[in-house]
Amino acid sequence: MRILKQLTERVYYMPADGEIDRPVLGYIKGDKFSLRIDAGNSASHVANFDQEVERLGLVQPAATLITHWHWDHTYGMHAIKTPIIANEQTNARLQTMSTWSWTPDAMAARLETGEECAFCDEYIRKEYDDPQGQIKVVTADVTFKDKLTIDLGGIELEIFQVTNPHSEDGMIIYIPSERVAFIGDTITEDFYNNSYMDWEKMATLRQTLSQLDADYYLHGHLEPLSFEQLDEFMQPS
Ligand SMILES: [Zn+2]
Repeated sequence: MRILKQLTERVYYMPADGEIDRPVLGYIKGDKFSLRIDAGNSASHVANFDQEVERLGLVQPAATLITHWHWDHTYGMHAIKTPIIANEQTNARLQTMSTWSWTPDAMAARLETGEECAFCDEYIRKEYDDPQGQIKVVTADVTFKDKLTIDLGGIELEIFQVTNPHSEDGMIIYIPSERVAFIGDTITEDFYNNSYMDWEKMATLRQTLSQLDADYYLHGHLEPLSFEQLDEFMQPS
């Protein structure tokens, strides 16, 4: 279990749990409706978030926005009863994964072909006692291309896909009035390409992020960081 923490007046986040690879989930409070950032890795992760929203007396999010297709951010989608928004590239990946079988043989075969990454396979087994019986991958309800603006009432979100080293569908959710940016896992290496780190893409991403006027950058698996702290991860090593 994780608790939902208030970061700014209208932005909350539930910290990541590295033990079972649960990423950060976000909550953005609007006057008209509220938004969840990422579904999480399972129905149980979704339930943890929903309980926390209730405990804090917040309204349940009317929609969920997905930062990128990776399992830990999306496999909770089936347990969410309200609309889910994703970009077209994310949704194409979800569509493919929704056809996957979760028998031990099928899981082993995907590791052989490289369709699945070893790190992900290891943590999927930690989150799920019975992958075949429990995993259900679904597609989004609303899709868009490249960028999207959402006005939650009293607060606007600028959502856009970025060049980044982690996954080609990766997005930034920038909230100018709160000086916050959710950056998904964009600064991390690509687990689905032998953990390759593309420093050229990182340089492009760094340029994009440096132009945002934000006090907090929320990575999918880290505590909120200032740009200076984030920058340490973006320097070639
Ligand atoms: Zn990821």
